Amino acid sequence: MDTAAYLRSHIRTVPDWPAPGVMFRDITPLLQDPKVFRVLIDTFVHRYMTPELRPSVIAGLDARGFIIGSVLAYELGVGFVPIRKKGKLPFTTVEETYELEYGSATVELHTDAVKPGDRVVLIDDLIATGGTMMAGRRLLEKLGATVTEGAAIVDLPELGGSSKLRESGLELFTLLDFA
Ligand code: IMP
Repeated sequence: MDTAAYLRSHIRTVPDWPAPGVMFRDITPLLQDPKVFRVLIDTFVHRYMTPELRPSVIAGLDARGFIIGSVLAYELGVGFVPIRKKGKLPFTTVEETYELEYGSATVELHTDAVKPGDRVVLIDDLIATGGTMMAGRRLLEKLGATVTEGAAIVDLPELGGSSKLRESGLELFTLLDFA
């Protein structure tokens, strides 16, 4: 079995959660099995330790992006910064609001989290409509950093987020998709 198939086989699909009609892709089984967790993290480490792709910072999106992003940063020997849902960060922040299917969401980043010239890999567990990753990228760019790549475990290509992100000029690296 190749890596994508191996990882896919450890993702649980929960129908009708959090709302009727949604097929939720649950990555917690990937984290729970230490062998699978290692394969998952090592796949990202392998990519981002190459000199041309090595970032100066890893930024993780709330909340599962914190889990994989912090371990990845630790392994690469670079810093980790969290992009949080509004109201959680204690220091001064920049913020971005983006549209959801119903309503909107706001994410924040500490103003001293990154600096001009930083090369950032922005990571989350999953890309659906791409709104969350796009907002995270804007926050990092507001502070003068460059997002060299967006990374995620899962892409849901039918929701169009990954193509929208690529069309906007963002490089993307995802490990597997669910059609
Ligand atoms: P987007 O902004 O529409 O791309 O949604 C991506 C964000 O919502 C990420 O932070 C994901 O963690 C979360 N998300 C949306 N759908 C799922 C899912 O099926 N499984 C896990 N997370 C999801």
